[in-house]
Amino acid sequence: MESIAQALQQAQRRIEQALAQAGRAPGSAALLAVSKTQPAAAVRAALAAGQHAFGENYVQEALAKMEALADCRARIEWHLIGPLQSNKTRAVAEAFDWVHAVDRLKIAERLAEQRPSGLAPLQLCLQVNVSGEASKSGVAPAGLPALARAVAALPRERVVLRGLMGIPAPAEGEAAQRAPHRLLRELMAGLAAELPGLDTLSMGMSADLEAAVAEGATLVRVGTAIFGAR
Ligand SMILES: *Cc1c(COP(=O)(O)O)cnc(C)c1O
Repeated sequence: MESIAQALQQAQRRIEQALAQAGRAPGSAALLAVSKTQPAAAVRAALAAGQHAFGENYVQEALAKMEALADCRARIEWHLIGPLQSNKTRAVAEAFDWVHAVDRLKIAERLAEQRPSGLAPLQLCLQVNVSGEASKSGVAPAGLPALARAVAALPRERVVLRGLMGIPAPAEGEAAQRAPHRLLRELMAGLAAELPGLDTLSMGMSADLEAAVAEGATLVRVGTAIFGAR
């Protein structure tokens, strides 16, 4: 069986190949290792192999894993990529470095209020519903500019809006996979005049990372291809 170190290398190779094919600069898309449902030992193995950014979906599971990995805290960047309910914002504001799935102002406001002042600002992405009816989570494209404006106006010492995140409905074939990623890229380009600091397109997973990188992904969220099936 392939080791986690080998799988990480393979995922990095896929990203670099896709960057080269798209004429993008080497290293211009980073790998987020999605460690949901994986034990702390798997995160430790990935960390030993040089991976530092990890994505988790479930707050309780993530908090337990963080506790088991407290000795490595300074070397890990923890990203919450799953949905966030308002009753969990305090724990998230206190424990994570990034939150990807913000889709309501109320959540961002609570995170800003609850981010401890001794920590670096929490980095936020807005989740956009890029697949229309197929998905219920994420802000609708029409509602994005107003939400982005409001989140960007929150105190920057507590939360910083970095970009957009998409979870397209599964699709087969390059054209179908690229369309929702292209939409996300175009939506971010549409915000650039007003919000020039946005630099993160969180899109692409194990099955469609090439399509996402071709459309400009800067942060690719890969679970299965690194840690195996869940
Ligand atoms: C689980 C998950 C991933 C990783 O998916 P894989 O197909 O295992 O690579 C990426 N993003 C989100 C939001 C997820 O929930």
